Amino acid sequence: MKISDIKTFVVDGAARPWTFVKVETDSGIVGWGDATEWDAFPGVVAMVEHMKPLVVGKDPMNGLRIWHDLANYNVRQHGGLAWKAMAGIDAALWDIRGKHLNAPVWQLLGGRVWDQIRVYWSHCGSFRARHNEKLGTPPVNNTDDLRKLGEEVLARGFTALKTNLIKLDDLPDPGATRSARMGNYATPNVLANARGVIGAFRESVGPDIGIALDIAHNFRLGGAIDIARELEEFKLMWLETETWDPGALKTVRQSTTTRICTGESLFGVEDYKPFLELYAQDVIMPDIAWNGITISKQICELAAAYDTFVSPHNPHGPICTFQSLHVSATAPNLMIMEIDGDDAPWRDDLLTHPFEIKDGHVAVPYRPGLGTDVKEDILKKHTYSG
Ligand SMILES: [Mg+2]
Repeated sequence: MKISDIKTFVVDGAARPWTFVKVETDSGIVGWGDATEWDAFPGVVAMVEHMKPLVVGKDPMNGLRIWHDLANYNVRQHGGLAWKAMAGIDAALWDIRGKHLNAPVWQLLGGRVWDQIRVYWSHCGSFRARHNEKLGTPPVNNTDDLRKLGEEVLARGFTALKTNLIKLDDLPDPGATRSARMGNYATPNVLANARGVIGAFRESVGPDIGIALDIAHNFRLGGAIDIARELEEFKLMWLETETWDPGALKTVRQSTTTRICTGESLFGVEDYKPFLELYAQDVIMPDIAWNGITISKQICELAAAYDTFVSPHNPHGPICTFQSLHVSATAPNLMIMEIDGDDAPWRDDLLTHPFEIKDGHVAVPYRPGLGTDVKEDILKKHTYSG
């Protein structure tokens, strides 16, 4: 079997564009991968096109060699767009191998330790505050709306949620927090907003439901410490914060009783190693759409060696959910997996076998490969147009 062509599709995902990679073979088997990049997706598409001549003609059964050939070719582009493109190809090759061998990907990874993957409702409230019309959901305008959403979280059986700082009518404006990377501590408005959002959810869902707050790259060391301390009483599942400096993150972890999660923007075992060596966090969240299934499996195993939980970063397209389910199923140190409780209303229409969120869990797929095929005609009807 030889790889005959590679195609990309940029699809409207309501809250963000999804980037899918299709690898075709001369045997007729095709594989799908998710290489979603919210902002610079044209760069991912261009990198897939750029690497296509290096991949076409190769044997898809030898995905490890293809990964390392591409990693060597991109040695001066470690991470970023090159790896995102490589990861989409990698996932599609796993899908092809599973279909060829009539085995789900988790079997090819050594077998599963979980039958059901516990998932948390990500962007809970923040998506509805910004994208409710495209998502087809009620809006979130104030903390009462968050309390009602908390009731929905419970009714749908979720055991955990993740939210963000949200601009609401009855809370101080947290401001354009991305600019805080320029050096701000957390302002009084940011702290009051964080306390208001998390307090409303905690009041609504009770003490047993996990609540996480994602502040991404928005604060430097001092700001992350401010927020972690401010929220200690709410006993968060985690505060999610990113930095390129593992020593700085260790300082955050040591300064607070709030658990710390990090790592959605790191690439390869090389990037995670210094964070793990310092025990700078409680949980790492590898992005499977950007590290590929091949390297994500290695990252999970490295984290296990440091007795650290993993929680795959999965805010992308539905194919990434399948990729993440297979890697999660094989990780004894899995804590929980991300999923968007609100998503594009047409998400399931794209797939021959959509996943189902039931009682806060998603069943590990049993069909060969990733476990679903993609309806290309429906996909094309939802081409992203900006
Ligand atoms: Mg995050």
